[in-house]
Amino acid sequence: MTDHEWSQRHLSHYVEGDLGRHARRRLDRHARDCVDCGRGLRAVRALTQALGALDGLAGPYAPAGIFDRVRPAGRGGPAAPQTA
Ligand SMILES: [Zn+2]
Repeated sequence: MTDHEWSQRHLSHYVEGDLGRHARRRLDRHARDCVDCGRGLRAVRALTQALGALDGLAGPYAPAGIFDRVRPAGRGGPAAPQTA
């Protein structure tokens, strides 16, 4: 895998802070020299910030316990959502 391919695959991990120090440095170094990855890095960063802002807006209004109802279905639990 080339540095470019690797960087493209790890852009979102980089922005989310999921990469180790070594991996971050590798992506940093590549993004400085690569127009595509530099642009990609900024785009993913902007997207992450936008999503974070949305989370901040939606968070306080999410009904309590909504995730308890959603998760079982996602795991292959009961297909019918509990409406009570
Ligand atoms: Zn690149």
